[in-house]
Amino acid sequence: MDATMENKMGLPPPYEPLPPNPAPPPSYGFSTGPPMEQPRTEVVTSQPLNPGPIVLGPGPTGLQCPKCNKSIVTRVDYVPNNRTHIVSAGLCVIAGCCCGCFVPYCMKSCKTANHYCPKCTAYLGSADPS
Ligand SMILES: [Zn+2]
Repeated sequence: MDATMENKMGLPPPYEPLPPNPAPPPSYGFSTGPPMEQPRTEVVTSQPLNPGPIVLGPGPTGLQCPKCNKSIVTRVDYVPNNRTHIVSAGLCVIAGCCCGCFVPYCMKSCKTANHYCPKCTAYLGSADPS
């Protein structure tokens, strides 16, 4: 055993002079603020020649045509809407293939129903499935 016990008292690490700290940035969190109060914008849907709200269902609906003023049963065209594509994409991911992709396109509930007058072929409105 050599008694070469060195003085291992190492030098303390030199203190780094801290730079002068500027004022800390204000921690404005985006999530801590009060909820923005949305100004109420009244959307006035002006529908001329419309004495009452036309309640359009997902299927042919009997009503009075505002154009030709005849009692008609609407002719419905089903067109794929955005949800059709979303459901289709979702089924594609879930099923792992495109076997189920066509299903939403065959489902009326996934399509927007466009109502037309069979007499004057006026577009009467559309009904989105909810
Ligand atoms: Zn009509």
